[in-house]
Amino acid sequence: MGRQKLSPVDESLLLPTADPEAVVCAEPGRQMAYRYVLRYFLGRIKVAPQPLGTACSICGATDRQLYGDKRVCRAQIAIASKRDTWDPVKDGPRPGARDNSSGGTCIAEGNIVIAGPHVARIVTKVAPAQDLPDELEIAYPTEKEGVAAKALAALLRDPPAPPYVVMVTGKNASYPVGVNFGRGVVQISGPDGHQVDRAVADRLVASLQGLSASEVKKVRRMRSLLSAGPDRSKKDTDELNRFRAANPRIGSLLFEMPSGTSEEFKLAEKIASQVVDPVEDTGTDAA
Ligand SMILES: [Zn+2]
Repeated sequence: MGRQKLSPVDESLLLPTADPEAVVCAEPGRQMAYRYVLRYFLGRIKVAPQPLGTACSICGATDRQLYGDKRVCRAQIAIASKRDTWDPVKDGPRPGARDNSSGGTCIAEGNIVIAGPHVARIVTKVAPAQDLPDELEIAYPTEKEGVAAKALAALLRDPPAPPYVVMVTGKNASYPVGVNFGRGVVQISGPDGHQVDRAVADRLVASLQGLSASEVKKVRRMRSLLSAGPDRSKKDTDELNRFRAANPRIGSLLFEMPSGTSEEFKLAEKIASQVVDPVEDTGTDAA
């Protein structure tokens, strides 16, 4: 949203309701994210309300209260407005409300939101604008401890009861937010939104656990060489065979791994290279 001049709010423009479902985007996924998580991060709105009847720039609804030149609802403002950060050392594990809408970061910048009637979880540096309810879990995305990766690994291992949404945010914040209605496939919304087969990705994370980023990259290449089958050159076949001889554990797992270009592999790669705690037997062979 940037730093825009504070406009006085004309109360007559606002919808006569406090129900968040009535005032945010018509998209059910965005509503869910807002209702259970995002609204606690909505600071003072610094842009002017738009007249009723204005179409939402994301969902097209004309019956929601929208704000600013970007014609977005409160859910989107909660995602995109810059706010202050919290610090787990100073603030402890649960930051209190902070009235700062001119800080340096926003939810759109690399956070994880998992939200629904049975789950409210956020991994973020953004300080909340309201005190958080007890059921809302918050974690600071410490890279060294792989907090974000652990949150994704936990989601694959033990997903919440549906319905729920998962957002892995990135610079562009105007993507659709899809609702998960089952447990087998997880829809991850974000600028690089995708769906993953949960069991396949979870199994792969376990297989790759303990390998360094470059080792995982190597495994991905070997998986791709395996897929090439008869089209593989002799040089590539030799490389694959050398790898399998040197890494029997991973070598035998290659056959059950999804394609190196699959969303499951991309996600597992992201998780495996950051989660440092050993989960299961990681074997002794290095890739
Ligand atoms: Zn909308």
